[in-house]
Amino acid sequence: MAKRILITGGAGFIGSHLSELLLEAGHEVLCVDNFFTGTRGNVLHLLENRRFELMRHDVTHPLFVEVDEIYNLACPASPVHYQFDPVQTTKTSVMGAINMLGLAKRLRVPILQASSSEVYGDPEMHPQPEGYWGHVNPIGPRSCYDEGKRCAETLFFDYRRQHNQKIKVVRIFNTYGPKMHPNDGRVVSNFVVQALKGQDITIYGDGSQTRSFCYVDDLVAGLVRMMATEDSVTGPINIGNPVEFTIRQLADLVVDMVNSGSKVVYRDLPTDDPRQRRPDIGMARAVLGWEPKVQLREGLDKTIAYFETLLAAGKAAQ
Ligand code: NAD
Ligand code: UDP
Ligand code: UDP
Repeated sequence: MAKRILITGGAGFIGSHLSELLLEAGHEVLCVDNFFTGTRGNVLHLLENRRFELMRHDVTHPLFVEVDEIYNLACPASPVHYQFDPVQTTKTSVMGAINMLGLAKRLRVPILQASSSEVYGDPEMHPQPEGYWGHVNPIGPRSCYDEGKRCAETLFFDYRRQHNQKIKVVRIFNTYGPKMHPNDGRVVSNFVVQALKGQDITIYGDGSQTRSFCYVDDLVAGLVRMMATEDSVTGPINIGNPVEFTIRQLADLVVDMVNSGSKVVYRDLPTDDPRQRRPDIGMARAVLGWEPKVQLREGLDKTIAYFETLLAAGKAAQ
């Protein structure tokens, strides 16, 4: 049955892909975004669809709308952006969660939280299962994001315990794909844009740190599966691609695929940069019947093609 679905952060990278998927499934989408890192351009092609609605709003303020489901994605995700105004980042995660939970409670509708692998911090357990409580610095430059996401999870589970709220908490691991902002600052978009422009590829540290990269189509399919579960399924549940790469391997792969003359240069490793990260997706497989289908090379192919078109159109500088 067609639903009216709220996506906060819907004009961002993941939110715009989720909007597309839900519209394709026949639903109505209300996209709420303050355009901090998201853009109208990401959803421009959806504006003609009469089942799509775009509202400029900051989730740190109350929101009164009528919907059947809520995906709470509003929050800058790139370290460069979430550290630009760290107080606003914490407010977005915490006050945004309170407001969206208040909305979900009034409407008695399910709400899904886009949590993050960052709740595990710089993990001492590898790969990371959902039962791991994490290793997080509460006072460092990444804390506004990590602790904000952790507090949001606390709020979700307290609304569950206190108000019997229907909640779904998904811990998203590094996700990439078309519609990342060219100046997003995260590693995949940085390397691809640098390679396409023939600029130096900037590895932070010695490149031996690891990440596991999930293609965005796989990710949004996982979010929708989670939302479709029984009320008893709350998560938290990891969604990510369990194939792990060093950042050096990623740089070599991008240079090779773009056939770029770029050389690799080394920059300082940011404070508290996690050494290793790989999701244990046993729970996602068992509970959601979900696993990623797109391997890194195939996903990079599509991402490179997207940035190639964008750069050719001269939009990357905007
Ligand atoms: P993004 O920065 O592209 O999207 C975030 C969106 O939220 C943007 O459109 C931004 O304008 C909007 N936003 C920020 N603050 C807001 C506010 N106060 N009110 C309303 N809108 C606001 O990032 P993304 O990669 O699409 O991430 C989406 C969600 O997924 C975020 O919650 C992020 O923390 C989570 N996540 C992403 C990844 C990843 O690898 N991409 C990993 C873990 C978790
Ligand atoms: N809220 C909202 N939209 C709604 C209902 C509530 O934005 O439709 C906000 C409300 O302003 C409050 C927050 O959500 O600040 C939490 O609401 P809740 O009912 O849980 O708490 P209370 O209003 O009792 O503080
Ligand atoms: N990174 C890098 N060069 C860049 C951007 C990032 O070497 O131009 C590194 C970064 O230090 C981290 C990894 O790549 O070790 C992933 O960084 P990203 O910002 O994409 O995500 P996160 O650190 O939040 O996982």
